[in-house]
Amino acid sequence: MVKKPIYSITPFTLLDYPDHTACILWFAGCNMRCGYCYNPEIVRGKGKVGFDEVLSFLEKRKNLLDGVVFSGGECTMHQDLPYYASEVKHLGMKVKIDTNGSRPHVLEDLLYEGLVDYVALDFKALPEDFESITQSDLFEQFRESLEVLIGHDVPFEIRTTVHSELINAEKLSKMASFLHDQGYKGKYYLQHFVGEKETIKTLPHSKKPNLAFTDYPELELVWRN
Ligand code: SF4
Repeated sequence: MVKKPIYSITPFTLLDYPDHTACILWFAGCNMRCGYCYNPEIVRGKGKVGFDEVLSFLEKRKNLLDGVVFSGGECTMHQDLPYYASEVKHLGMKVKIDTNGSRPHVLEDLLYEGLVDYVALDFKALPEDFESITQSDLFEQFRESLEVLIGHDVPFEIRTTVHSELINAEKLSKMASFLHDQGYKGKYYLQHFVGEKETIKTLPHSKKPNLAFTDYPELELVWRN
């Protein structure tokens, strides 16, 4: 067991778990290097907080918090994730997983064991742009994660970070078409890159694209900012 898997804790949020109060555990490390990533210190850094510390924190807060968000970095890279999730569930709290989709089998096991209540899956790009955006070749794993989630009844959302130099309106429309072809129905959240914080790469200014997916009525496009 990794002694200190977590980089830091955000003690309270109303924004990161839909309709729930929650805290966020920022798991250290990631298997992607997205240029627009707002958390370079978490992606490249080492954990500073042990899970025993997290549990004592949660014990004191359990009346205030409905759930715990496992974010990062990429939390599914941590092999003790099922144990962490089951400990949180034992405290009577819900578990939300934020993931880049690179570990479909980890996700599937967590869902099968009933250890997850909500998932936010990042859709970074289609295959032709995936490597340049994420510095990884993990598109197929992402696609499998999407398939796993579509085949389960645990609620989930799909979200894309949009930087106009990386993903323009035409590419977004193709991404919507891909989701449609995979059988996804529901909200498709877009988050426009703002660039107020340090990111993994220095990126130029981004212009928020104007969009509407009129061809896909089953997809509800929602801008988060
Ligand atoms: S934005 Fe990319 S690099 Fe940053 S944590 Fe998410 S997957 Fe990892």
